[in-house]
Amino acid sequence: MMYGHITFPLLIQNIKDKKLLLWFLFAGWCANLDHIIPGVPHMGITHTFVWAIPLVIIGYALFRTDGAVYAFIGQLIHMLVDTPTDTGVMWLYPLSTQRFTLNLWTNTGALGVWGYYSQPAPLFIEGIIVIGLIVRYHETVTSYLRKKMSR
Ligand SMILES: [Zn+2]
Repeated sequence: MMYGHITFPLLIQNIKDKKLLLWFLFAGWCANLDHIIPGVPHMGITHTFVWAIPLVIIGYALFRTDGAVYAFIGQLIHMLVDTPTDTGVMWLYPLSTQRFTLNLWTNTGALGVWGYYSQPAPLFIEGIIVIGLIVRYHETVTSYLRKKMSR
């Protein structure tokens, strides 16, 4: 997924602390740092539980147990939502390098937004998530805007 790494965790979360929420969203997205780290292949080690180890440690240092747990959940969600790509995810790494995939869409890479969203499956799934976000947060957004406009 592309924006789904942010929108899906945002849809299912129930975190009150804004800094912890930002950490959760970052932890869920940051496996895709492999796009900018030289020599690190996309959907390689950053898309495994090995990548969760430093995330959990950093999360614990920042937010104690909640930070560690949300870092792990963020990584787990990232791996889950990338499993439908044709590339697949190495769920058993480092025990095995076998990739598991649902093969629902083609991995178009970091800059392949247009190619990615021209495929029906990711467009449909991420569209459902966006509709879910609108339903979930429309009250929050409209009340925030009302307060801002009444000042
Ligand atoms: Zn990814």
